[in-house]
Amino acid sequence: MNNCLFCRISAKKIPANIIYEDSEAVAFEDINPQAPVHVLIIPKKHISTVLEINPEDNALIGHLFRVAAEIAKEKGIEKSGFRLLMNTNSDAGQTVFHIHLHLLGGRQMHWPPG
Ligand code: 5GP
Ligand code: ZN
Repeated sequence: MNNCLFCRISAKKIPANIIYEDSEAVAFEDINPQAPVHVLIIPKKHISTVLEINPEDNALIGHLFRVAAEIAKEKGIEKSGFRLLMNTNSDAGQTVFHIHLHLLGGRQMHWPPG
């Protein structure tokens, strides 16, 4: 999708600090990091929100989590811990409507989140 920011990052039409890529997924540093480690893991396939995930996407979604876990290990935060989340629609503060897994770590996280 040409008008989607994260499709454009995935297609290299907009620069980003890409730290991982394969045929299905891309991971890049968040432009406004909320923690020492803040990486976004996205599918190359355009999916607007978790509400649009179909059964055929099951393996893809699992893959995003596995990529996130590998990046957490590469960043050395697997033992200290990290948070993975996807915001959906306005109450959660979703601003980019191409699903992205936030990987946050490198500091103590709070619960409940704000
Ligand atoms: P959301 O609020 O939709 O869950 O998260 C969107 C995230 O994308 C935010 O954390 C925001 O900082 C990040 N973001 C927005 N625009 C860009 C961009 O152009 N490049 C990068 N790398 N991150 C972005
Ligand atoms: Zn998209």
